[in-house]
Amino acid sequence: MPSYPLLFDLGTRRPTTREVADRVKHGGAEALTDAQRRADAARYQEVVCRSALNPVKGMPFKWTLNPYRGCTHGCHYCFARRYHSQFEMNSDDEFASVILVKKNFVDVLASELDRPAWAREFVAFGTATDPYQPIEGHYKLSRRAIEALSTGRTPFGIVTKGPMVVRDADVLRDHMKAVGCTVYMSVPTVDEDAWRSLEPGTAHPLQRLRAVRELTDAGINAGVLMAPIVPGFSSSRSKVERTIKAIAEAGARFVGCNVMHLEAGTRDHFLKFVALEFPAMLPRLERLYATKYAPESYRKEVKAMVGVLQSRYGLQKREHAETIQTGAERVVEPEQVGFAW
Ligand code: SF4
Repeated sequence: MPSYPLLFDLGTRRPTTREVADRVKHGGAEALTDAQRRADAARYQEVVCRSALNPVKGMPFKWTLNPYRGCTHGCHYCFARRYHSQFEMNSDDEFASVILVKKNFVDVLASELDRPAWAREFVAFGTATDPYQPIEGHYKLSRRAIEALSTGRTPFGIVTKGPMVVRDADVLRDHMKAVGCTVYMSVPTVDEDAWRSLEPGTAHPLQRLRAVRELTDAGINAGVLMAPIVPGFSSSRSKVERTIKAIAEAGARFVGCNVMHLEAGTRDHFLKFVALEFPAMLPRLERLYATKYAPESYRKEVKAMVGVLQSRYGLQKREHAETIQTGAERVVEPEQVGFAW
């Protein structure tokens, strides 16, 4: 096993994601001796990636972009937890505490966008982990990626729970005017109990809605994804209504929603979390999630309720808005092709 010099020592070789996965496989996260621990107690491991644009199938877009792997927001329902397990890391604590930072991401992206064959198709940014999780304040990979997309005249939509996105209102506004972009702020619920339980590392939902207000005031096309609505936690009519009312008051230009689905990897983590923290809810959730999707009748009921409330509060529906984040609600399984790093 090769040894690597300390991180942040510019000019030295950084491991690839595969090499990091091998090290974790043999020695656990403790084997990442050169990963930097920061104030949030997470480890940040810089890696080199070979590609930035990731092709996907079965979605309303063909390309995704994710500068980080793992997310300190640590949402218990996060469908991206399974991607950590694909690389020998666990989808429980390590998903939220061992973050891989693609150090050369922007350079690789710029060269991909510069290829004559690049057709400037829509790119979904932040589909696997949050591009505005706190470490973005340090690396600015997302901001620089937006600048690269502007140079490459490529339209995109960005999904986040991070109010830090307002920092980049200037580049987003310029890009929107020249090429087109949309910000999808994820606010599944404004209910404080559900937020505290389900999304332990995220900003308060009202702070996220303030960010939506700032973005729309700056002329940026920004709306909200209530994604996911989690049965038993945020699915009651009163919680959904409070959330939609708050979204409308924040000036969101549209709203989309989906009901939680549980992929392998995420499923184990989520049900363990429920068993530990909310044992009384476990039998019902296990019944509801006999498969990875809640029954269609249940999902239709929730969507119908959301539709009625959207109309009541004058919010525009966003066709396919929910699929930019999770691919949920689709009958055809989205296929991740060559999850490229
Ligand atoms: S913010 Fe998004 S990517 Fe991060 S843990 Fe939550 S759902 Fe997953």
